[in-house]
Amino acid sequence: MSIWDVEKSKHKSFEMPGAKPHYNPDRPGQVEHIKLTLDLDIPQQSLEGTCEITLNPIRNGITELSLDAVNLQIDSVFILEAPQKYEYDGEVLKIHLSELTEVGKRINLAIAYQAIQPQRGIYFIQPTEYYPQKPTQVWTQGEDEDSRFWFPCFDYPGQLATSEIVVKVPADLMAISNGKLIDVKIEGGHKIYHWYQQEIHPTYLMTLAVGDFLEIKDKWEDIEVNYYVDKSRTEQEARLSMGKTPRMIQFFSEKYGYRYAFPKYAQVCVADFIFGGMENTSTTLLTDRCVLDERAALDNRTTESLVAHELAHQWFGDLVVIKHWSHAWIKEGAATYAEVLWTEHEYGAVEAAYYRLGEARNYFAEDAERYRRPIVTHVYREAIELYDRHLYEKGGCVYHMLRTELGEELFWKSIHTFVQQNAHKTVETIDLLRAIEQATGKNYLPLFDQYVFRGGHPEYKIGYSWDSDNKLAKVTVSQTQDDLFDLRIPISFGFEGGFEAETELKTFTIRIFEKDQALYFPLDQKPSYISFDHGNNYLKQVTLEYGLAELKSGLEFNPDPLAKIQYAEAIAKKGSLEAVKALEKALLTEPFWGVRLEVAEALASIKLDQAFTALAQGLNDVDARVRKAVISGLAKTKTQASLDLIKPLLKNGDPSYNVEANAATCIGDLAHVLSSQRPPDGVIKLLQTTLEEKSGWNEVVRSGAIAGLAKIKDSDQALETILLYTAPTTPQSLRLAAIRALGAMGKSQTKPKTEQILNRLEIITRESFFLTQVSVVIALGQIDSAGAIRILQSLSNQTPDGRVKRMADEAVTRVQGAIGSDESIKQLREELEDLKKNNQEMKSRLEAIEAKSAKTEVS
Ligand SMILES: [Zn+2]
Repeated sequence: MSIWDVEKSKHKSFEMPGAKPHYNPDRPGQVEHIKLTLDLDIPQQSLEGTCEITLNPIRNGITELSLDAVNLQIDSVFILEAPQKYEYDGEVLKIHLSELTEVGKRINLAIAYQAIQPQRGIYFIQPTEYYPQKPTQVWTQGEDEDSRFWFPCFDYPGQLATSEIVVKVPADLMAISNGKLIDVKIEGGHKIYHWYQQEIHPTYLMTLAVGDFLEIKDKWEDIEVNYYVDKSRTEQEARLSMGKTPRMIQFFSEKYGYRYAFPKYAQVCVADFIFGGMENTSTTLLTDRCVLDERAALDNRTTESLVAHELAHQWFGDLVVIKHWSHAWIKEGAATYAEVLWTEHEYGAVEAAYYRLGEARNYFAEDAERYRRPIVTHVYREAIELYDRHLYEKGGCVYHMLRTELGEELFWKSIHTFVQQNAHKTVETIDLLRAIEQATGKNYLPLFDQYVFRGGHPEYKIGYSWDSDNKLAKVTVSQTQDDLFDLRIPISFGFEGGFEAETELKTFTIRIFEKDQALYFPLDQKPSYISFDHGNNYLKQVTLEYGLAELKSGLEFNPDPLAKIQYAEAIAKKGSLEAVKALEKALLTEPFWGVRLEVAEALASIKLDQAFTALAQGLNDVDARVRKAVISGLAKTKTQASLDLIKPLLKNGDPSYNVEANAATCIGDLAHVLSSQRPPDGVIKLLQTTLEEKSGWNEVVRSGAIAGLAKIKDSDQALETILLYTAPTTPQSLRLAAIRALGAMGKSQTKPKTEQILNRLEIITRESFFLTQVSVVIALGQIDSAGAIRILQSLSNQTPDGRVKRMADEAVTRVQGAIGSDESIKQLREELEDLKKNNQEMKSRLEAIEAKSAKTEVS
């Protein structure tokens, strides 16, 4: 057994049992138009309608058509006046054509159908017993293969058609859909909205959103830009959240070299949405959790990024459509990279670089902890499994590397070529490579082979020393991952010219392709810093093995924020008093908040009193994001001093919700660890008061308090409080936090408490709402017990959602690994014995009852 095998096994497989290759089906012809005429019965959560499809056959003599249609009730199928024979098995509607197809002779199918309480595709939101304030809304979610749950269709992205939706809704509601509003009719107590989309698009981007919305009208050139929020929100909040949209449309129209292609752009914020946002053509749906208030806007960029992401899809995804899910990175990578582009445009290059680092780290985490896979793969159980950090963040990083290698002019020329040539068409990865080659003559298959068609990324270990006798910089580079990468990496040396002088930079671009390379650079004088991968544009991980002096100098003089962060991490590893001093200086003087935040984390990793004292100064940082990180850092030192420093931020309040929330969580943790010295009652009381008093935006602060209570494992009072907030009347986001907290609480807990927690979680698994299921899975995945495995397995078998199923299966594997398979079998056997015993008892009781009733009958 070599060490390589051990190394390789550290990456789990993406493919779950049952995964298989997926292909687009054969095409009977081109779908040209889809018209839906719908009548919604909102109280009954059902709809009745007609789906008319115009199909232009591609071959003569086709005798049957197979449409995707899940759990619909099919009432009739006609072609013009002629009824058609059909079979329907609940998944596929097979139509036996009364006349054979002829090329060029269009078929006009009309399918009368009903969708009765559909499980997916279309969602009916209404006030409930527990949430009487919940708005009445109907919205759809097609991606990836869910449109078939609300209308019969050829449900794969390779078919692009114009579309039309005529929908009847109660008169007090409005209906928003793709394209142009042609007509609104009033009929009795109802309104009939008629929307028409004349640009071709796939079925998964067809949408409908119905509700009593506040409509805010904006504009870009002659294009209507509208924001829709529930009437409980204000116009100001809607503008705070989406108000930059017109400027973004301008920006992306210019960047992508193609004017915004649709007649309007609407963003509708809906309740209980199961994604962050969905880029339906010209009508994006967003979760209502993204609607900011003034205070949330202080330190929240997520909403702005979400708005940019979904808007960018109007080009990458909606105008240029992917042909198959396996190439979805083309659109998701582009939209994720659009967040970086917008950040750069709006906030500058430094902010953009840091944003990009955040994306790369999301991918690294998935790669390390979950699985490693090629970005492009067609082997999966359900397409939705592909929508992960490889597809989004790693895909985004690939776009950035293309931009780096090509340079501004050629990169944007390539993008313009790609978008212009493929507008209103479908694409695969090869089409992007071809567009680049056509625009620039360059072949990027080697880069794609390394980063797109196989998993992983380079992990470099870099050594550096200065030989003053020979005036040589010696740089050693080792690739520590399995598959070697072959890249041309710029290595720069910076020379600080002193007061008022320009920093001079010497750059060498070196092919890095071997396992170990030693490089020598003759320089006139000792450089102030070295930048391996100057600008940090390649997706990679690095370990710097430089001397402290070199690192300190780099942290001070290198203007690249990502290089500074690498230096700070390496300095922290030195762990000396001198290291603390260098980091303290950076914490207090670095102009960019992102570097200060990272420096705070670096300081927190040093186990010295001086590091703690230095870090504490960060509590006064002007940026809330830094303060939040400082709190987490201080809380790593489990002392009364930490508790005393952090507590006031919750007690006296902070301008930021996130800071207060993190303070609440961290004091719970500290109170728990310090409970042998002092009972945690005071902190529990403070967290309970927080729960009573600090209701606010998305329940961020109260969720922090719940997470804090979950840390205090030994306290019955803490558990009781958390259980209380899992009640169905609790506001949704707070309740979800309480459900997740049960997981944290249940981790290495006493047996009776574990059982109490598992019982509660099991009851909650019966709820079908996506976010509830996700929270339950997250909770159960933390509880190392066979009981958790059993509940997870039953959830995996029952959930209609591919994402939940996958998460549950992964959680099972994790818990099994944690408790060991022998132990899990033993525990399961015990449970089975218990069940058998219960069953036996029930039987005897039943028999007794039967015997009794038999007696009564006789008498
Ligand atoms: Zn997206």
